Amino acid sequence: LKTMQERYDIEVVVPLALYQAFNYYHDRELPQGTWVEVPFAGRRLLALVWACQPLEGDKGKRKPITRVHPDYPLSAQQCRFFARLAAYHMLPLGKVVQVAHPGLRLFKPERHDGFLRRSAKDFAPRSSGQKRVLAALVTEKRLSPQGLRNAAEVSASVILGLKKQGVLEAAPPPAQAAALPPPQPLNIQLNDAQQQALDRLAENLKRPNPQPMLLDGVTSSGKTEVAFMLAAEVLARGEQVLFLLPEIALTRQWMQRFAAEFGFEPSAWHSQLTPAQRSATWRAVWHARTAVVVGARSALFLPFKRLGLIVVDEEHEPAFKQNDGLTYHGRNMAVLRGQIEGIGVLLASATPSLESLENVTRGRYLAVELRQRYRRAPPPRIQLVDLSSERPESGQFLAPTARELLQETFAKKEQTLVFLNRRGYAPLLLCRACGYRFSCPQCSSWLVEHRHSQRLQCHLCDYSEAMVSHCPSCGESESFVPCGPGVERIRDEVQALLPTARVALFSSDLLPSTKALQDAVASVQAGEVDVLIGTQLLAKGHDFPALTGVIVVDGDLGLSGADLRAGERSFQMIEQVAGRAGRRDRLGRALVQTYYPDAPLMRALAQGDRDAFYREERAARLPQAMPPFGQLAALIISDRDAKRLDNLCAALKARAPQMAGLTLYGPAAAPLTRIRGWHRRRFLLHAQEGQRPHDFLQLWLAGFRFPAQSRWTLDIDPLSFL
Ligand code: ADP
Ligand code: ZN
Ligand code: ZN
Repeated sequence: LKTMQERYDIEVVVPLALYQAFNYYHDRELPQGTWVEVPFAGRRLLALVWACQPLEGDKGKRKPITRVHPDYPLSAQQCRFFARLAAYHMLPLGKVVQVAHPGLRLFKPERHDGFLRRSAKDFAPRSSGQKRVLAALVTEKRLSPQGLRNAAEVSASVILGLKKQGVLEAAPPPAQAAALPPPQPLNIQLNDAQQQALDRLAENLKRPNPQPMLLDGVTSSGKTEVAFMLAAEVLARGEQVLFLLPEIALTRQWMQRFAAEFGFEPSAWHSQLTPAQRSATWRAVWHARTAVVVGARSALFLPFKRLGLIVVDEEHEPAFKQNDGLTYHGRNMAVLRGQIEGIGVLLASATPSLESLENVTRGRYLAVELRQRYRRAPPPRIQLVDLSSERPESGQFLAPTARELLQETFAKKEQTLVFLNRRGYAPLLLCRACGYRFSCPQCSSWLVEHRHSQRLQCHLCDYSEAMVSHCPSCGESESFVPCGPGVERIRDEVQALLPTARVALFSSDLLPSTKALQDAVASVQAGEVDVLIGTQLLAKGHDFPALTGVIVVDGDLGLSGADLRAGERSFQMIEQVAGRAGRRDRLGRALVQTYYPDAPLMRALAQGDRDAFYREERAARLPQAMPPFGQLAALIISDRDAKRLDNLCAALKARAPQMAGLTLYGPAAAPLTRIRGWHRRRFLLHAQEGQRPHDFLQLWLAGFRFPAQSRWTLDIDPLSFL
């Protein structure tokens, strides 16, 4: 005999950036991963059940769970992934859940205009047409409207009439469970090196807990082909594959290539999907109705039912790191998810990160190399142009050697890529008369002159202003001098040198949509362009077969600033850009303009000695215990009021704990001291090798109340130091 109604104490995670858990009660046990709706601060929120135990005694202040959604529960592995990700980054679990769930629309009934079935209603058909429709739905439980019209030989109006009377209803598509595409052998003939690479990867993948894999191969060696073949093996086992790309601009082109090889389109996942597309894809992934997802880093949060492989393309790309909000690194979290699921993770790159190479050295990752380009001449030797001895003419930015390369390549009717990672015309505009510089009123940054739009723009915020003819400070007219080059200025210089050449500018402000970029890429591939001038938008992903010349305008651009990975990034960027040159039958030429031809980075580039570069880089970081040897964590605090911010930083500094092997630096004004009117300060915590920053941060920050007017971001393993 039950005297009291049984009750359960349900701990839930609400999708908000709050560190505490919240408890409710319910009259049934609910497993972890169940979606529920709960009352929260006057609202109703979609929350995730995290723990559940019988409620002893009184329910106290707990409120009841408003609603339970039995559909789409998250797996235990997925919950574990969220928990580990949140714990590692010291982020609230709710913030992960906030990013990961597609919203309440998930539980609205799915709309399938595509299929019809008979509803349970009693109905006596009145016409022979109606009879035939119902008969057709006895053998086939569901048909598309067109299929139904054909089978019953009726007009659309008969079917519409039955729908209106509620005799027919929309039905889910028939092959819900078995919709993984049938394994189809790919039509790819691997060469020996590629086959050997594939064999080693496939063998590793057969183990119960495969090692993470690094596919380290020069550009155009066939990394993508090998990854496709590996994916095909996984698909043939009935498992799902996730491909992570650093940028969504590359997704479309990648999907076309995938569809051409596999005969079906993967699902795309990125921030530009509509809410309806998001929930449709989320469901399809959960049901394993979709076999392959290609997407940005947030695709890692999708509820894969039978995930078998994660491929991270261009694993060294900093774009995998999110720098605000959920400050996680997509590549590292792919490895974590792989470990938790017990599946393989394949990292691919022509210029791997020092982190991944170090993991190979320590035997944690399995490395497979591809040293030869596929049916193409080897990558070009990089030639340095010493700008201190070979000066460009005044007002110009291309040295004589670079100008000759442009002329020669144009004469041969081949293409040249001129690379400069700087948008606009000039990075700084100066008044010759009084020295006035145009700066952003909200940020600590100069305004960049954009001639194309006739505006001065801030590259940190969206501020821009119209060009003026008189100096706002001294009133002089015609007194402005642009300082330094942006891509627009280089375009003018190239066009002046080659007046008949067709010059195309690739810059995100000029090609704002993915479509515009694709069209531009297509016109280059069709040979409608002689010289391509562009930012990093051009550096990766695209195959330009007629491109034989590459000029890096400013090889030193990435080296300024205190970023510990500046050298590594420059090396990766220049290697990648230079790798665009050359064809099947002909060596390309790549020039890098620099003021520091003797710097180790430049020497390694010129000698094509990648290992030398990585050795130097490792040797520089190891004694300082910089990552990947030691570990860093950053705390960035901002406030509109500089004084209040300084007081806050002083209070934080005063309560910092002392721990062996850990050093706290700062507060320092962030290099970007002000953005959109917010002043910014940074703390940097350094942990010696073998130490972790987490305990320190816990002691330091737990219980500290940040004033409501301030914002703060904790960034474990920061990639950006701005
Ligand atoms: P990566 O990803 O290493 O840059 P890709 O896989 O894109 O290299 O290969 C470069 C080019 O060579 C592509 O056009 C690709 O189709 C072609 N290719 C590579 N391997 C093969 C192969 N085994 N058979 C046919 N084409 C190949
Ligand atoms: Zn002036
Ligand atoms: Zn600004």
